[in-house]
Amino acid sequence: MEDNGQLSFIKPSNYEISKTRKFQNDISRVENMDYNEEEDFYICKNNKKLILTGTKTEKSKTGYLSEKSIYICENCNGCPYKAECIKGRNCNTPLEERTKQLNVSKKFKEKRAEDLERILTEEGQQLRMNRSIQAEGSFGELKQDMGFRRYLCRGSQNVLAESVLLALAHNINKLHNKIQGERTGTHLFKLKKSA
Ligand code: SF4
Repeated sequence: MEDNGQLSFIKPSNYEISKTRKFQNDISRVENMDYNEEEDFYICKNNKKLILTGTKTEKSKTGYLSEKSIYICENCNGCPYKAECIKGRNCNTPLEERTKQLNVSKKFKEKRAEDLERILTEEGQQLRMNRSIQAEGSFGELKQDMGFRRYLCRGSQNVLAESVLLALAHNINKLHNKIQGERTGTHLFKLKKSA
């Protein structure tokens, strides 16, 4: 998106769950550890440092390459929080011998933080509200108001043609409503401010 000169206003996938008490009390999560930006280490629930030990490159199913920074705890021996902190019960190494490791994509973390900041601004809230009204609403209007339940044609070209006709009908409807409501020339509904 940056290469295209675009800004994202995408709600992070963990946005809702990150507000739950369960998430916020989960000490195994990197989001719940303190981070020292200057010296690049995390501090865990047991006040130990998780130190940067190296990086590795991971490839996603779609072929996207991401660099992960690997942080390892300086000493997990005898930690009373170990069972809560170190997940993955299928590991062959007994829990007592295991050490906490975090794999963090710094780029992902940075982009997610920027995105979160943007969606909480007034502009971000307005765009999100309009997305839910305009994009999601279109499906509802097509299916419920216009009674479109299934394609009448087969084959991708025919389905595309049918979709274009539907979109045209939808847009004419929308334009008509805008003219009636004297809202031509505007693309976004205003945020309703609570008193
Ligand atoms: S298991 Fe290790 S990283 Fe987790 S809280 Fe204990 S000392 Fe810290």
